[in-house]
Amino acid sequence: MRLHRFFRMKICVGFALVLMLWQCAPQLRHTAPAVEEVHQPEIRICLDDSLREATLRFDGNFLLELEEARYWFDETIGELNVSVRGEYLVIKNDKRFFELTTPLQVVFQPQYEYNTFYWNDIPYSGKLLLYLDKSHRLVINQLPVEKYLEGVVPFEMPTQNPEYREAIFAQTIAARTYAWYAIEHPENEFYHLFADERDQVYRGKLRSSPLIETAIKKTRGKVLALNDHSVRVQFHSTCGGILEVRSDSESTNGNPNTITMAYDLMDNEFNCKISPKYRWVEVRTAETVLQNLKHEFQLDSSLVQKWLDEGFHLTIEVVSRKPGGRVNQLRLVVNEREFLVDGYRIRAVLRDDVGEMLPSELFFINQSPTNPGKFYIVGAGYGHGRGMCQWGAIGMSLRGYNYHRILNFYYPELSIKTLYQ
Ligand SMILES: [Zn+2]
Repeated sequence: MRLHRFFRMKICVGFALVLMLWQCAPQLRHTAPAVEEVHQPEIRICLDDSLREATLRFDGNFLLELEEARYWFDETIGELNVSVRGEYLVIKNDKRFFELTTPLQVVFQPQYEYNTFYWNDIPYSGKLLLYLDKSHRLVINQLPVEKYLEGVVPFEMPTQNPEYREAIFAQTIAARTYAWYAIEHPENEFYHLFADERDQVYRGKLRSSPLIETAIKKTRGKVLALNDHSVRVQFHSTCGGILEVRSDSESTNGNPNTITMAYDLMDNEFNCKISPKYRWVEVRTAETVLQNLKHEFQLDSSLVQKWLDEGFHLTIEVVSRKPGGRVNQLRLVVNEREFLVDGYRIRAVLRDDVGEMLPSELFFINQSPTNPGKFYIVGAGYGHGRGMCQWGAIGMSLRGYNYHRILNFYYPELSIKTLYQ
């Protein structure tokens, strides 16, 4: 199984050592045979994939080994400026100056597990790796998976309320499952996941709470699996009462498949109705939507300016919906020009004027009867609606369901598996 390659390390005892022990300590003759220990894996997280400039400082000792010498860094060195200048990586302050020629790979290695480095003032455990060549300017944090989760779970779910405990346990297992899949299916040789919304938001040791520590400790090594194999799990903030179900999506790992729906309903109560985004109303002006269209379709600036100067007429209508009601395709017409929008672009063309995406695809849109340049959008939920509804999990937790029941409700085809103790 693939799992074993990553997670198992055989304890090998050399023949000479065995012989020595045999002679010196005959009482060891009856000890149990050597067993296989399964250790938690390390994961590599990309903090930045286009490094230009950053700050770096240390709390505790970190070792940088270069060809010519070994250098130790600690808190007495203060804040360093890290920048890419042409062919060089420059690391400097008034106490240290390094000008390193690229391509290069450097590692700042902590002396102890509890040592911390601060990258742009965010504290991290583990190693800091920098990879620079013609096509990469990567900043990577490598650390054990359980440590990684400490920087993920607090950013996926509100963690201050002890009554959310079972939902936080469920989220911790889902986040660990996400990491496991990424380790088992690396998409490149440098890192497994991004530290932002492209994967799971990860912010090192920035936010911690006793509840998070308990959740990670009590679920240590537990993941969701499909027939014992790693699986790409999905989760989202709020489904609005209607989950999107992609049949066989877990078993085929995301291949196109049939979309159906399910209600996020238990005991005749919608699980996520306590979410602040359960229902919402947003307003967009025609000018904002036009700017979004310009960005998404890379429209010519002079054309857009002409429309803005001379006046334009915008209509927006839903062409089709998925089962459950999420918009499948949207048609926007600016004067005579038609734009058909689907996928992530539906939420993108309806961003607000500070660039926030529309919360979900589950909405109705109506033009104002008195002002044709104004649109009301009445909607439900936040996120794509697939996999676990995080506010729904919180709702179930508040009503006394445990994390086994929560995970079984949202991922009925998956089972909990322990990778390591
Ligand atoms: Zn929900």
